[in-house]
Amino acid sequence: MSDRIKAPRGTFDVLPDQAQARAEIEASAKAVLERAGYQRIETPTFEETALFARGVGASTDVVQKEMYTFNEEGGESFTLRPEGTAPVCRAYLEHGMHKLPQPVRLWYLSTFFRRERPQHGRYRQFWQVGAEAIGSDDPAVDAESILLLAEILEAARTRELRLRISSLGTPDTRASYRAELQRYLRAHEGRLSQEVRDRIDLNPLRAFDADHPGTREVMRGAPLLLDRLRPEDREHFDTVLALLEGAGLAYEVDPALVRGLDYYTRTVFEFTSDALGAQSGVGGGGRYDGLMEQIGGAATPGMGWASGIERILLASPERAAAAPPLDLFVAYASPALKEQAFRLAADARRAGHAARVELGGRSLKGQLKQADRAGARFVAILGDEGTALKDMESGEQRDVETNTVMHHIRR
Ligand code: AMP
Repeated sequence: MSDRIKAPRGTFDVLPDQAQARAEIEASAKAVLERAGYQRIETPTFEETALFARGVGASTDVVQKEMYTFNEEGGESFTLRPEGTAPVCRAYLEHGMHKLPQPVRLWYLSTFFRRERPQHGRYRQFWQVGAEAIGSDDPAVDAESILLLAEILEAARTRELRLRISSLGTPDTRASYRAELQRYLRAHEGRLSQEVRDRIDLNPLRAFDADHPGTREVMRGAPLLLDRLRPEDREHFDTVLALLEGAGLAYEVDPALVRGLDYYTRTVFEFTSDALGAQSGVGGGGRYDGLMEQIGGAATPGMGWASGIERILLASPERAAAAPPLDLFVAYASPALKEQAFRLAADARRAGHAARVELGGRSLKGQLKQADRAGARFVAILGDEGTALKDMESGEQRDVETNTVMHHIRR
């Protein structure tokens, strides 16, 4: 025998007993988002690499080391989507959605791909539900978007949920703050981890993420972007906070909140669950007012988030997988009756019933046991002398004409 082939590292199969729990979360997310006017969008699984290089940002971990990129003949480079915002923005531009009433509210539920070190809650292919509201810079858009994710996570009964929020201001503020932070980090270089030191030029903000004790110590005294915001950005942020407060959603302002993607401006936020351990991020996002220009469009504000379905599942109580209802199980006593039984089950399904016929070659006794195990409401038993219909709830069994079975189960 040759070696057994397994699923690639960092990927997983969604097995039937998990599919149901996922379907519940997906249905609830869809309901919450569509009630708020979000409409579904699905973009291709792969895009031109430039979309992510320019959209997500060349200095991010995602672009630097996590993308699955492949080249086509002729030199075109494509990448399996590592995130959903840049593709949705591309679609917004490509389909002239600026002509629609703004903001355009879109949601998606798709698989994403990142070449990360696989661990509990961190995979190389994972599912995200995401929402984007494009075309308005009203702080109420930010607050509404955050509230919707809160509603989805609460509906899933996500445990030990915390919301952290901050503002990144505008690219200008960020650039001068970045230079200030770089000066500060260089002044304390000796106490920083090698990794942080290597990234002072490329991504100094990541120093706030570090676990290294010396670095953490240094970062406690670091200047904060929140203290450098322009008055209008500060006002935007304060309005978002006031709206969240008014809606009764608890949050913590976290001035060191860093998101892994470069496109964020102003509001950024993250929901974490302390029930998750190291990979505590359940969902997050923010405003990306500069992203459209990065990918070749006119300046258009946007706000959105993404939340990992696997993280939601891991952070919420396990759902008991209920067997799907079965209205009718058709059993038959001898092989000669199989065709008739097969037809009866097919007719029942066409009439809208959940119906199954024996396909495993079991004896009649085995079939009846199977019907019981599957939780069948009725069992039709086709025998050489005629057909019997058993009501599994009352245990009552009576002889019926085969062509009246459907009539009986409908009652
Ligand atoms: P991000 O696009 O990095 O902001 O991620 C948004 C959300 O997607 C996170 O909060 C996680 O819930 C989920 N997520 C991100 N990366 C992964 C991954 N590699 N495996 C599983 N879930 C992920």
